[in-house]
Amino acid sequence: MENKNYNAFETAQEQFDGVAEILGLDQATKDFLREPLREFHFSIPITMDDGSKKVFRGFRVLHNDARGPGKGGIRFHPQETIDTVRALSMWMTWKCAVVDIPLGGGKGGVICDPHNLSKNEQERICRGWVRQLAKNVGPITDIPAPDVMTNAQHMLWMLDEYETIRGEKYPGFITGKPVGMGGSLGRTEATGYGVIFTLREALKELGIRPEDTTASFQGFGNVSQYAIQLYEQYGGKVISVSSWSQKEQKGFTYRNKSGINLKELLGITDNYGGIDKEKAETLGYEVLPGDAWIEQDVDILMPAALENEINKDSVKKIGARVKIIAEGANGPTTPEADQVIKEKGIFMIPDFLANAGGVTCSYFEQVQCNMNYFWSKDEVLGKLDSKMTAAFIAVSEMAKERDLYMRDAAYVIAIDRVNLACKNRGWI
Ligand code: GLU
Repeated sequence: MENKNYNAFETAQEQFDGVAEILGLDQATKDFLREPLREFHFSIPITMDDGSKKVFRGFRVLHNDARGPGKGGIRFHPQETIDTVRALSMWMTWKCAVVDIPLGGGKGGVICDPHNLSKNEQERICRGWVRQLAKNVGPITDIPAPDVMTNAQHMLWMLDEYETIRGEKYPGFITGKPVGMGGSLGRTEATGYGVIFTLREALKELGIRPEDTTASFQGFGNVSQYAIQLYEQYGGKVISVSSWSQKEQKGFTYRNKSGINLKELLGITDNYGGIDKEKAETLGYEVLPGDAWIEQDVDILMPAALENEINKDSVKKIGARVKIIAEGANGPTTPEADQVIKEKGIFMIPDFLANAGGVTCSYFEQVQCNMNYFWSKDEVLGKLDSKMTAAFIAVSEMAKERDLYMRDAAYVIAIDRVNLACKNRGWI
């Protein structure tokens, strides 16, 4: 997240500016695409369980909707800022474009810490968020979804509030809903599985068998949990995973050199991906500092937590054996760190390609809601695999053809598509 020296929006703009040069975009187009189209900042007053009143700050940013309605999650985080939401909305635009789904980029957030809020208080925040925005979001305007520390239950409360205000049913208003309540089978798995579909393709390209690889993961939330599951199914071995300890207010890395036991760890993890440190110790895991995940002697690194985790300092700790970085998180790597990764010749699967499985499945969820006919899990995941694989191949071919770093190649494809849509609409 943001700290004194880091601003996610500046990173997003710097990445964009670099590729705008490669593409030779004109000044007006650059000015147009490096800023969001519109943004909402608002207050959400809540009655707490003890009867007191508290005001939370909420945001929704629409970066671009030239290719379709805005799309993107809502984060609950104590360090949420408008610039983080701006950056994430911009990355959503490129994400939807690179996998070629007919959606634009948006993002939302609330400054709050769900660890310290009861279920009822969280419900009131969800309903309050929708109340502030009901006129400006919707199935053909801007469609929210889950992100860091929000889940299917939050989405259902938001849907219920929206439908109550509108007096009609709008299952396509929000995605990531519970299965049976307009949600899609496979949506929970989609982001993590999507990362591994792209990793599988990268390994193929490098001529490495998954069963000959080991990996270290940062974060143990929804993305990591399912990514680890599929990676292990393909034969890979995860030797370490880091996780935030709410009790100690810092992260730890849990290591077992012969391979972590996913089921066992899931049994001692809270709803937000926090592993219980004492229990992990009892189970025999080595407990290392939170940032130790990056310095492990592994083939694959998977940052799947927050922004600014691979930066100019931490990048120096990456071991000589690392061949691939697959970004499950949004914005984990800074431009300075990218430079070092490029020089080291590590194969980068950039965030808005690697983690596009979530929004791709959200798009499938909307399609199913529109038809009011729901597919089997195999059908959903099969379609997801085809989409992710096609997007990966297009990016890696572009990278080879124009001798580009994978992140830049993904940007070239995405920005080109959005630029074309803006031009064809006569906007710019
Ligand atoms: N929050 C997820 C992301 O960053 C999913 C967004 C969506 O499904 O709309 O991609």
